[in-house]
Amino acid sequence: MSYLTSDPTMISIRRRLAAAVDGRIITPGDAAYDRARTVFYGGFDRRPAVIVRPTDASDVSQVVSLARETGLELAVRSGGHSVAGHSTTDGGIVLDLADMTALEIDPEQRTAWAQTGLTAGEYTTAAAAYGLATGFGDTGSVGIGGITLGGGIGYLVRKHGLTIDDLLAAEVVTADGQLLQVDDRSHPDLFWALRGGGGNFGVATRFKFRLHELAQFVGGMLLLPATPDTIAAFLALADAAPEELSTIANIMPAPPAPFVPTEHHGRLVIMATLAYAGAVEEGQGAVAPFRALATPIADLVRPMPYPEIYPPEEEGFHPTAVSRTMFVDTVDRDATEAIVEHLQASTAPLSVVQLRVLGGAMARVPAEATAFAHRASRLMANVAAVYERPEDAEEHQAWVDRLAAALRDGDARAYVNFLGDEGEARIREAYPRSTWERLAAIKGGYDPTNLFHLNQNIPPNGELAEPRRTAM
Ligand SMILES: Cc1cc2nc3c(=O)[nH]c(=O)nc-3n(C[C@H](O)[C@H](O)[C@H](O)COP(=O)(O)OP(=O)(O)OC[C@H]3O[C@@H](n4cnc5c(N)ncnc54)[C@H](O)[C@@H]3O)c2cc1C
Repeated sequence: MSYLTSDPTMISIRRRLAAAVDGRIITPGDAAYDRARTVFYGGFDRRPAVIVRPTDASDVSQVVSLARETGLELAVRSGGHSVAGHSTTDGGIVLDLADMTALEIDPEQRTAWAQTGLTAGEYTTAAAAYGLATGFGDTGSVGIGGITLGGGIGYLVRKHGLTIDDLLAAEVVTADGQLLQVDDRSHPDLFWALRGGGGNFGVATRFKFRLHELAQFVGGMLLLPATPDTIAAFLALADAAPEELSTIANIMPAPPAPFVPTEHHGRLVIMATLAYAGAVEEGQGAVAPFRALATPIADLVRPMPYPEIYPPEEEGFHPTAVSRTMFVDTVDRDATEAIVEHLQASTAPLSVVQLRVLGGAMARVPAEATAFAHRASRLMANVAAVYERPEDAEEHQAWVDRLAAALRDGDARAYVNFLGDEGEARIREAYPRSTWERLAAIKGGYDPTNLFHLNQNIPPNGELAEPRRTAM
C-alpha cells in the first residue's frame, strides 16, 4: 500500500485530482478505502491507486482526461455488480458514480432523467410514488449504469421490453473528455451502441427513461417442488401467460428461510418470482395456474406496491461464484432431467439454475434496432455455483460447464450482463456478427485507444480481435 501513497507520481496525480474535481477522493490509507474498494462479488480483492466519487459530469470529464493522459487503468462503477469484476482495478483509478444520484421525474411526460449512480431499487421506489415504473432487473442494489448499458432483463420484460427499450437519451463523457448529448438524432450511432454495447463507449452520466403507469401489481415468490415435470410445466405456463406476467424460476435447494417448512430445507424447489404488471384481479387469474401446478411449499404472491418485488438484501453479502449464461429456445425433457440430476449431484454450497421465459415486448423490437440483438430467444438460462474455498473453483466450474452443455440447444448466444471474465469468444456470443462489426467500428470512432477496456471489451475496429470461431 505504501508504494501507492508515497510514490511521487501518485502524489502529483492526487494533487491534480484534488484541484480539478469537487467529488470525494479516496486513496490507500484512508479509513474509507477498504469499504470503497469492495464490489458486490467476492474474489476480486483489488487495490486501486485512487477511487474518485464525482459529483457531476464535469468531474467525470476530469477523471477521464487524467486516466487518458497518465495511462492509469480506468474502472467505471455504477452499482458495483459486475459479474466479471470489471468495476475495480489493481493500481488504477476507480470512477465510482455512487454520489451521482439525482433523479428528475416528469409525471406529465412520463419521463425521468436519472444520474447513473442510482440503483435500480432507488429509482423504482422514487418512480412508484407517482404510480410509474421503468423495468430494470431482479435485484434492487444493481446500478442503473451497468444494467442499462447491457440491456436490462427484469420483471417487466414481457410487458415493456428491456430497460434499453425505455431509454430515450443519455449524456455520455467520451474518451476525449467531451460531454455528449446522445439520442436517436444526436450521435445516433452511439445511441444504438449504448443500448447493449456495455461500458465500451464512454461514461454515461445521466439517462433519460420512459416511465410506464403501474398503479396495480401482483407479485412475489412461489415455491414449488422441482421435478423434471414441474419445471417443464412451469416453463410452458410462463410461455403461454399474458405478457403482463414475467417470471424468474430459480431451480435450487430450498433455503432454510423462515417461510420454508423445515422438512423442505435442502430439497430441490422451483423458487419462482412472479410479476404481473396490471390489474389485481387479472393478475390473480394469471398466477392461478402456477399455484395449481403442485401444492405450493410457500406462496408469497400478493397484490403489492411494485418496489416490494425487490427482495431484501443482506448487508456485506459478497458471494464468490462461477456461472454460465445463455439464451436458448427450448428446455426439453432431457434438459429438465439434466437440471435435476446435476443440481442433485452438485458439491457446491449453493447451486442454481435460473430460467427466464422471454418474448412479448422484448421480442417485438427489431434485432438490428439496438446493440442488444438476441431478442428472438425464448429463454435465458443461467447456471451458477456459489462456493467458499478458492481451491474448489475448478470443480464447480466443471460442473457449470457440464450442465451448460446439456442445456445448449443451438448457436451459442449470451447475455453480456451475465458474462464473467470468460474471454473474447464468449463476448462475441453476446452479439451477432453484424452487430459486433458495427460495435467495433463505433468503438473505433469514440474510443480509438480503448481507454474504456475494463468491460466486456469490444476492441476498436476489431484490431485486437481474434478470428471468429463460431458462425452466427
Ligand atoms: C445479484 C445480481 C442480480 C442481477 N440481476 C440482473 C437482472 O435481473 N437482469 C439483468 O439484466 N441483469 C442482472 N444482473 C447483471 C447486471 O445487470 C450487471 O452485472 C451490471 O453490469 C451491473 O451493473 P452495476 O452498475 O451494478 O455494475 P458495475 O460493476 O458498477 O458496472 C459494470 C460495468 O458496467 C459499465 N458501467 C457501469 N456504469 C457505467 C456508466 N455509468 N457508464 C459507463 N459504463 C458503466 C462498466 O463497464 C462496468 O465495468 C445482476 C447482477 C447481480 C450481481
